[in-house]
Amino acid sequence: MSGIVDVGVRTPQKLTLAQRLYLPEILAGMRVTIGHLLRNLSAILYPEQKRDYSGRFRGKHILKTREDGTLKCVACYMCQQACPAECITIVAGEHPKIAYEKYPVVFDIDMLRCVFCGFCVDACPKDAIWMTRDYELAFFSREEAIFGIDKLIEKQGLPVKGGYGYRPYYPGDGTIPPTDAAAAPVQPGDGERETLREKGLLPVFRPSAPGIAAKA
Ligand code: SF4
Ligand code: SF4
Repeated sequence: MSGIVDVGVRTPQKLTLAQRLYLPEILAGMRVTIGHLLRNLSAILYPEQKRDYSGRFRGKHILKTREDGTLKCVACYMCQQACPAECITIVAGEHPKIAYEKYPVVFDIDMLRCVFCGFCVDACPKDAIWMTRDYELAFFSREEAIFGIDKLIEKQGLPVKGGYGYRPYYPGDGTIPPTDAAAAPVQPGDGERETLREKGLLPVFRPSAPGIAAKA
């Protein structure tokens, strides 16, 4: 009758010999284990071996320099504005050389917040920030994960760890950057800003700004 549960004792089905020996289950388990073992024999054994990622892989950033070693960055803040993770911090300063107006006194990227989207590279009008194929970013503290200019600047004459990754496409054959992003030092006007100021050839920078004493 419906609604009545039969709670009578039931005799369990008899196990077959194979089930009593657990053999089929042991063999099924071994098949999975050996399958993983064989697949791992052909795997990349990091860190001795490394995967060769795409030439446009988005890894650690690099700040490009001009031929005279100065940063190509002009502290325009466009990368900071474009960054969806808000992990770029820039403080602009007046460049000591008259040829360059501004430069980043501080340029920090918080690698723990960065999502490696490459928007900063796309936004840069000066070809000043590229990405490399270096993905070995491990830290023991949050402070270590904040990369400043010392860690981001491209060291002239030294190979770039991992090689270049995501970077702008240039027009034409793709190898020549636009002239306003070129690496050559800006000419003319290669003087020292302070010297020109002392000679009265330059106005004093923001004389009314708080904390900046006006010079005669
Ligand atoms: S890669 Fe993306 S998230 Fe990282 S600093 Fe550049 S814009 Fe920001
Ligand atoms: S967009 Fe380029 S030039 Fe402007 S602050 Fe960023 S890195 Fe420097």
